[in-house]
Amino acid sequence: MAYNQKMFELGNKRSIIREIFEYSKTRAKEIGAENVFDFSLGNPSVPAPEEVNETIKNLLETENSVLLHGYTSAQGDLGVRQTIANSINQRFGTKVTPDLIYMTCGAAASLSICLKAVIEEGMNDECIVFAPFFTEYRVFIENAGGKIVISKPLEKTFEVDVADFESRINKNTKAVILNSPNNPSGVVYSEETIKSICDILRRKSEELGRVIYLIADEPYRELVYSDVTVPYLMNYYANTLVCYSYSKALSLPGERIGYIAVCPDMEDALSIYLAVCGAGRSLGYVCAPSLFQQVIARCVDSKVDIEIYRENRDLLYNNLTAYGYECVKPDGAFYLFVKALEKDAYKFYEAAKKHELLVVPCDGFGIEGYVRIAYCVDKERVLRALPAFERLAKEYK
Ligand code: PLP
Repeated sequence: MAYNQKMFELGNKRSIIREIFEYSKTRAKEIGAENVFDFSLGNPSVPAPEEVNETIKNLLETENSVLLHGYTSAQGDLGVRQTIANSINQRFGTKVTPDLIYMTCGAAASLSICLKAVIEEGMNDECIVFAPFFTEYRVFIENAGGKIVISKPLEKTFEVDVADFESRINKNTKAVILNSPNNPSGVVYSEETIKSICDILRRKSEELGRVIYLIADEPYRELVYSDVTVPYLMNYYANTLVCYSYSKALSLPGERIGYIAVCPDMEDALSIYLAVCGAGRSLGYVCAPSLFQQVIARCVDSKVDIEIYRENRDLLYNNLTAYGYECVKPDGAFYLFVKALEKDAYKFYEAAKKHELLVVPCDGFGIEGYVRIAYCVDKERVLRALPAFERLAKEYK
């Protein structure tokens, strides 16, 4: 075979979410879409803010089309990066400059670039992730030439088990990815947890005589429902790279826009930034979509209305726990991480399917025996699905 076997396998292996997506479409044709309770995809159900749509129209009507759709500099338009840096500094009291911001096609690209920038292929570099974790981390880390190392969470709360985390660090540890609010648990890690992680990273970096990088994966930062704050990691650890995305923050997942911000207090911040630029270049991730860079510059502090998600979260959490399901009440993102009612999450997924409930078995997320319910759907779907969840629970009593 002349082509890359590893890439073939990656493309050929259908993810379970993809499998459910296809099944959902077929089933909808058979019994009507309103009778299929698909909770599998993390596709926002809340519309983008009105000002985002207005801005797109205005830009198309008033700006020079050749410039608007033209290449920007590889790392993104300078004015756009300045606006984003100002917004970050205003919100979090940091001193980020535009020459530390790199515009990307969303968090997936941000992560791939950051990992490529810090991991050295052939050097046994390892990257620690906290379970449960977004399944694509494995793909991104391995593609950068690194090895994924999984840190187990505390049972019941899904907070980081700090002692477990510390035990996973060794001479090969190069980076740590932290995702809060978390996909798939919805947990927002507490400030105490963040401080402990950062203390350990500082101590271990000193012992190793080199830096361990912290990569903050933040697509869900703006989706928080309780009275909790999401600590801004740059303020706790200098060697931080932030991967941000507007996919969920502004409900623009198909437009592919986000950025990387390098912490200005980092040792050799400008060199790391150049490594980010080099990684972007080597992956072909240069010049993020120009129109949407301009949209972001004009809507940098806009927010989607998260009340719809909050209502869905409350409806599902309150009812499912009343039916006997076990799950942590999520403070953020739009996922409920539910303990399967039998040991094998895949079998439970199959049992749920018989009630037209499509949930994602989470073994690939680093924890066995759980399913994920994505509640970024119409409230109507949640209401219609509740009796099915109740019938499913009764089956196991
Ligand atoms: N990180 C996490 C935790 C996610 O859940 C997702 C998407 O669902 C991404 C990264 C990728 O986001 P984007 O659409 O911005 O590439």
